[in-house]
Amino acid sequence: MVSIGTTFKSTEVIPVAGRYQCVVCKLVVDVPAHVVSMGKTFFACPICHAGEEGGAKGPHEEVWEYLG
Ligand SMILES: [Zn+2]
Repeated sequence: MVSIGTTFKSTEVIPVAGRYQCVVCKLVVDVPAHVVSMGKTFFACPICHAGEEGGAKGPHEEVWEYLG
């Protein structure tokens, strides 16, 4: 179970399918179940690059907020 409002780093494994919002630029991404089942990690924000070195936030900072 993941509570709405939980935040994740770009390097963490995506726990559940659903919508996640970038805490910096508010971009919402929809992560489908088949991506979660592959055990993929999150990613840097494609808009503001939060979650990568030199981005709005680094890889060690929480970037994605679970919306449900
Ligand atoms: Zn962003």
